[in-house]
Amino acid sequence: MITFAEVKCYNCENSFPVYWNNWEKNLPIRCPFCIASFNEKFTEMLKHSLGTVNELNKELRSRHSDGSHDLFQVDFKHVYVPIDKYRLDD
Ligand SMILES: [Zn+2]
Repeated sequence: MITFAEVKCYNCENSFPVYWNNWEKNLPIRCPFCIASFNEKFTEMLKHSLGTVNELNKELRSRHSDGSHDLFQVDFKHVYVPIDKYRLDD
């Protein structure tokens, strides 16, 4: 399994992957299209997020293979909706 994040750059509206495997090869994290960059804080936060997702899915597969848990794999999606486009029911 390959764990990666798909990062959308709102400077140029393009997306690019950041891989958990060979983390160091991702650095510095910047948009390959317009070279907008992550700062150190957000690079660290992305590293921790990817590591957590990778560990979660690895553990789920492991517990399934030893017969102690049903198999699940988790992906995350995040969709940005501008606040003025958001329709509340009330
Ligand atoms: Zn960009």
